Amino acid sequence: TRRRAGRSTAALSNARAHAFGGQELSYDEPLHLVRGEGVVLEAADGRCYLDAYNNVPVLGHSHPAVVSAVSAQLATLNTNSRYLQDAPVELAERLLATLPDRFDRVLLVNSGSEANDLAWRIARHATGASGGIATEWAYHGVTEATYAFSPESWHGAPAPDHMRVVPPPPAVGPTAGSEVGPDIDAAVSSLTTSGHGVAAMLVDGVFTSDGVRGPAHAWTRAAAEAVHRAGGVYVADEVQAGHGRTGEHLWSFVAGDVPADLVTIGKPMGNGYPVAAVIGPAALVDPFVGGTDYFSTFGGSTAACAAALAVLRTIEDDGLVEHVGRVGARLLDALRQVAAQRADVAAVRGWGLALAVDIVDPDTGRPSADRAGRIVEDLRESGILIGRTGRDRASLKIRPPLVIADEHVDRLAAAMTGVMPRS
Ligand code: PMP
Repeated sequence: TRRRAGRSTAALSNARAHAFGGQELSYDEPLHLVRGEGVVLEAADGRCYLDAYNNVPVLGHSHPAVVSAVSAQLATLNTNSRYLQDAPVELAERLLATLPDRFDRVLLVNSGSEANDLAWRIARHATGASGGIATEWAYHGVTEATYAFSPESWHGAPAPDHMRVVPPPPAVGPTAGSEVGPDIDAAVSSLTTSGHGVAAMLVDGVFTSDGVRGPAHAWTRAAAEAVHRAGGVYVADEVQAGHGRTGEHLWSFVAGDVPADLVTIGKPMGNGYPVAAVIGPAALVDPFVGGTDYFSTFGGSTAACAAALAVLRTIEDDGLVEHVGRVGARLLDALRQVAAQRADVAAVRGWGLALAVDIVDPDTGRPSADRAGRIVEDLRESGILIGRTGRDRASLKIRPPLVIADEHVDRLAAAMTGVMPRS
């Protein structure tokens, strides 16, 4: 048995409550973690969990390529991007090589929120407009500007004056993802008549907090075209959808040939080391950079670039995008088999390794947050971590590290059968 330093779970939980107040903690009984490796998280009591939830460690927890790249960089040089260094330039070149030719500038920042905030400023600078469009239950970040794009965080407060929300693509049915409803045109004309105009629309390619949607290539393409007709900037938020999550391409909007103007990336970019970016064409980015003396102290630090390079190299060397396509299809199929037997599953959907299972009350057919919450807790008891999403908090969110293997997929499906007994 391994000896572990540190406080007991109960003592730590109390101390956390004192210091952090009501800041959210997952699970009824807090999960006290001490180690992660691959798709496994180890708790203080020695129990191991299959991580089917965390999208940041795309390569798996504590991946040796990232650990050694960051450690070596920290031990050699870690400074800011105003000095000439190999890593930031190599990272920018490598990112641009994965994107359509129209993208030729990279701005390195520290978080998805910062990337989206910066994209918003670039869009405002370029358009002179002040209106924004987001999907109904989107989440795009913690800053004041990105909070405005995050109805999930509004808790029922009215939309800020400069914002309009539109429904995400339909989750189920033959028209799922096929067309943009009239609402986007309504949002555009409302922003125009109010005098705000359309500065930007931000779209999370996998609609994570809207309950996980997609592929919705036709929807996102049409949305971008509608934004362009109004003179606005379409921002492909690839913070969740990027780095191979969809199993089609590194970036979901590229797979869909979506005419995005700016791309924001983050979360998995450093496999847990903070690094994020905004990528766009010189025509949009250069006037902003020149007009604002843009610089970020930690954005593009040497160690952050080393982490991001290790992630991109490993995704490519290990063929992870193809792996996601294959294992994601296996997981979707397995979940559909579980669901076919049950009266409390309204839908199962997935795009690569972004999957959702809609849970309903079998008597009323209505979304059931209670039932979904119980399933999440029961799965934890079975040694598997997943989450919940959507306006009703009734969709199970399954979004594992990309290295999840067939055996884990089968274990997850078997456990779901166990905690979701036949109706
Ligand atoms: N965009 C999307 C789609 C996200 O899911 C998130 C984080 N959940 C963000 C932006 C914000 O990223 P961060 O938490 O790194 O600021």
